[in-house]
Amino acid sequence: MREISNPTTNIHFVGQVLTLTQEDASTWIWTGEFESFNAIDGGDAANTSASRKSTLIELSAQVTQAVKATLAPQLSDPTCFVWKFKSGSLSSLTELMWARVKENQHLIPVRTPTPTFPLRASGGGEYIFTSEEGTAALEMGPQQGCANCFCCDAEVSLKKMRDHIGTHILAKMLSLPDPSPKKLKMQVGKSPCGFCGRTGTCKIGLRKTRNALRAESDCRLFSQFNIASAAVSTKSGPSTNRPVICKICEANRPPQRGNNIDDDIVFWSYNMQEHLAAKHPDAPISAKDDISDSVSRNERIYCGLEKGKPDAKEKGDSEAKETAGKETAGKETAGQSSGKGKGKKRIAEPADVRPKKKGRKE
Ligand SMILES: [Zn+2]
Ligand SMILES: [Zn+2]
Ligand SMILES: [Zn+2]
Repeated sequence: MREISNPTTNIHFVGQVLTLTQEDASTWIWTGEFESFNAIDGGDAANTSASRKSTLIELSAQVTQAVKATLAPQLSDPTCFVWKFKSGSLSSLTELMWARVKENQHLIPVRTPTPTFPLRASGGGEYIFTSEEGTAALEMGPQQGCANCFCCDAEVSLKKMRDHIGTHILAKMLSLPDPSPKKLKMQVGKSPCGFCGRTGTCKIGLRKTRNALRAESDCRLFSQFNIASAAVSTKSGPSTNRPVICKICEANRPPQRGNNIDDDIVFWSYNMQEHLAAKHPDAPISAKDDISDSVSRNERIYCGLEKGKPDAKEKGDSEAKETAGKETAGKETAGQSSGKGKGKKRIAEPADVRPKKKGRKE
């Protein structure tokens, strides 16, 4: 428990929300069913159709509290034993919990209400066991189009979140001091999500569109970006962290048809070294070099991890300018159709998404 109350802990629970019904004025019983939510919770940020339903919910241990239920005979059918919760303890828990979790309110998962959750008093439409103060605070939320960083809690525009989180990830990866002015609430773990920095919570995938590959993710901090432009570090787009295909994994599977690229061969470029070490330790160095990026000095400077003047002649950068120039038109229309007949074929094959070789090797 000591570890769970430690604010930097990374413990997460995955579980289901019990569907409770009111038995009498003082008792709620578990019907044996679970709440089913839309799997995607990113609101505007959600990129995939929200038709998938899920009963699983994943949340940080910091916003949870163990509750004891009692197994007792059901009033309407005493031969049947059910789990019971006392209304009194649920209400006091509501107030207690808000006081405990308000510091970490950005860790509270958001789901659309179901007909049975949050709980409503029988016959009434009003939610009960919801903290008024908590509801007001969550409704205020971060500004539209912004979210709080899971690592440092800074409010960041969703469009900039990948760069922002990228800096936390790089600092950890390169064992450099994190440039965040705020104390980190969450340390970056293994194979972090490039949008939110958490481990094991979010999928990353790629999908072929007519002219380009597009990122797909169920991360709640997801926002679409131009993958080709992201391959090169610039002042306005410092982080090169982006989904890439592991060519070694790809070679070991039957060719895929259509626009789907299996999620399990797609990795964040910052996580590729780790993937190669874990899954392909015996692959030839040349094959590994082909897939994994080294972080350029410019990228460290633009991310605020190193002081100095960016090197305009850096090989990666000049390549980049060319690509970035071509991509400018695409950037504006990202999110809409990318096949506007601009004439230029940008990325046709997944192979082109391979990380560009940077001038410098670390
Ligand atoms: Zn941050
Ligand atoms: Zn994420
Ligand atoms: Zn692989």
